Amino acid sequence: MKAMVLKEICEIEIKGLAQKQFKLPYKKEPLEIVELPTPVPEPGQVLVRISACGVCHTELDEIEGRLSPPVLPLIPGHEIIGRVEALGSNSTRFRKGDRVGIAWIYSSCGVCKFCIKGHENLCENFLATGLDTNGGYAQYIAVHEDFAYPIPENFTDTQAAPLLCAGVIGYRALRLSGLEPGKTLGLYGFGASAHIAIQVAKYWGCKVFVFSRKASDHQDLAVRLGADWVGDTKDVPPERLDSAIDFTPIGEPVRQALRNLEKGGRVVVNAIRKSDFIPELEYTEHLWYEKELKSVANVTRQDALEFLPLAAEIGIKPEVQEFQLEQANQVLVMLKQSKIRGAGVLLIS
Ligand SMILES: [Zn+2]
Ligand SMILES: [Zn+2]
Repeated sequence: MKAMVLKEICEIEIKGLAQKQFKLPYKKEPLEIVELPTPVPEPGQVLVRISACGVCHTELDEIEGRLSPPVLPLIPGHEIIGRVEALGSNSTRFRKGDRVGIAWIYSSCGVCKFCIKGHENLCENFLATGLDTNGGYAQYIAVHEDFAYPIPENFTDTQAAPLLCAGVIGYRALRLSGLEPGKTLGLYGFGASAHIAIQVAKYWGCKVFVFSRKASDHQDLAVRLGADWVGDTKDVPPERLDSAIDFTPIGEPVRQALRNLEKGGRVVVNAIRKSDFIPELEYTEHLWYEKELKSVANVTRQDALEFLPLAAEIGIKPEVQEFQLEQANQVLVMLKQSKIRGAGVLLIS
């Protein structure tokens, strides 16, 4: 099968700085197209022929070493849509030809103290798709049938792909934020995940304030999707925020969101790594009056099983830019430069 693989951790963008200032080698094209043997499904697994795979900011963290893959070379990608091509022995959940999705959770142990309580996202032996195992920038993947999900019919393959991470983790962040119908939500950063989360929050009757780069495509999209106010991450919104979700890759917006919280409000940080520190907090301004700060780590199967039908019921329309698998390197640079409107998706034939 054809696959795009990462062989070496590297910087993928120089951004006007001299190359010598980087600790890592610079590579314009971090991923290489290669031929690999097609995986053979083990007992309980399904082999999926991939048709689309979304591009996630986490791939940048992997390539640039903030989230090091345990083994290289690696096929990245964890927003996978495809059809079941073959069944391993004892696999009974799907039939050949069924359309399925695969998310960031590739497997969990099922027996640790976290798994037993339904917190499999915190599992001691959590394996992430496209990080701990090969992912979706390829023509095929094998996965245990319990970690694949049916995809509602009203989404095309490319629309469905970003639902698998951007959508599911945004939904988890919304739930962890304690947001209730009619309350006020702040979204910091407006990329693949936030543009889906806003559609859920509007469906729940919430007021949504979006903090993103001034006069950007992202702000235009936020307005079109029903934002009640848009501003820069430095701005003070017209009302205090009952909940806020920070989707940005940097530290500063966490402090800004805490400052803008209502008493008893909560900020949830939806980022697997930050590229710099959260600046110093001042207790009275940022935490007093029972303000809370929480991260969202990984997803559970339950998150995906709840969110996918909800997305269909709401009629969520992911804004998608399509590319060919071979263009993955260009897409990653565009993502780093915030030039993707909505979500970037690779088409795989
Ligand atoms: Zn992701
Ligand atoms: Zn476990």
